[in-house]
Amino acid sequence: MVHNSDIVYSAIQHIDRLMRRVVLLMFGAGVLSVLAIWHMEASDGTMDEIDRVGYPAMVLVFSASFLALWRFPKVLAWVRWIGFLSLTLALLTDLWHQMHVPGPLLGSYGSLTLWNWLPLCYAMAFFMLETRHAFVGAASILAFFGLCTLIRGGAGTPYAMSDRALMINTLISHAVLVVCLTGMVWLKHVVTVQGEQASRLNRLAATDPLTGLANRRLTLQQLDQLVRDARLDLAPVLLLCDLDHFKQINDGWGHAMGDQVLVAVAGALRASTRDADTVARWGGEEFLVVLPVTRDFDATDLAERLRLRVEALQVADRHQCPVPVTLSIGIARLCAGETGSSWLKRADEALYRAKADGRNCCRLAESPEVREPTASRP
Ligand code: GH3
Ligand code: MG
Ligand code: MG
Repeated sequence: MVHNSDIVYSAIQHIDRLMRRVVLLMFGAGVLSVLAIWHMEASDGTMDEIDRVGYPAMVLVFSASFLALWRFPKVLAWVRWIGFLSLTLALLTDLWHQMHVPGPLLGSYGSLTLWNWLPLCYAMAFFMLETRHAFVGAASILAFFGLCTLIRGGAGTPYAMSDRALMINTLISHAVLVVCLTGMVWLKHVVTVQGEQASRLNRLAATDPLTGLANRRLTLQQLDQLVRDARLDLAPVLLLCDLDHFKQINDGWGHAMGDQVLVAVAGALRASTRDADTVARWGGEEFLVVLPVTRDFDATDLAERLRLRVEALQVADRHQCPVPVTLSIGIARLCAGETGSSWLKRADEALYRAKADGRNCCRLAESPEVREPTASRP
């Protein structure tokens, strides 16, 4: 059965996978671009002392990040930090350098390459922070570089018309990019919140509020699944448990004590079973334990252990008088070709026999072929 939360969860996984691919692509393209610029500047002799250190450092960081992310996807969080910090540092160093080169900052070759790297920086901020902080981070980077460009452009070197147009153009396109990235991250945030709400609702709809156990609705779905997938060499087993004379506890000690007993029994059943087993609140004072893969004697042993554990429960009233709690259990192993309802009916009949045999005992269900027609428990 597919839940809404499964769909939302898979949407989040898709977004995460997409982000990882985009970051991989950015690092790959980053390495190639730096190598190309490095080669060009080395061959025409325009490389300065900052580039001589900066280019190898960028190639090293980008290719190490690319390889780490490609081979070990879980390092994404670290890679994002390293990528974002090293890139921002490289761009700030370059900006500082460009500020000392005479002429308008935006029109020069050096500053254009600087501006071309900025989108990578915003993207890193979004992949790293994934919240509205990313928007603040990216917008601050853009504002800082824009401000430096304005200050430097106006300092004794008036803009030519083309420079001003170029600047406005660049600033607008960068702002649009930041808004688009914000939209993408916002989308992921919305999907995540909805996913969490959906899984909370699913959990509530599948849980018994008093004991925290699985409820009948969820357990019926699991039983259907088990009947479909059953391997009859290790067939699943049902233990249908019913508290003995529970009405007397309610009548004698009050409903609140009844509830307390139900919670204690639920805890005892959960503590005595494996994680793979399901313990469900089947009805008022009935519990259903589903053992998905087991052998006959395992199940009988376990049923006996559950019974003894519940019998040993020390529930006392406010005068420290012990409240007697015992359990009767019907055990039914799924038979070949059997339906879920027939399986449950046999467990119910075995429980009925346990009650008839004096309570506080376990009875094994007969297999469907040999059993006599018997009256069902009222
Ligand atoms: P038996 O040994 O034959 O099973 O007797 P019994 O008294 O346990 O069975 P019966 O079916 O007569 O009574 C079950 C009682 O469980 C009746 C109902 O009021 C009580 N009950 C059902 N749900 C709850 C609940 O959530 N809290 C409490 N305190 N009592 C509940
Ligand atoms: Mg009952
Ligand atoms: Mg009962």
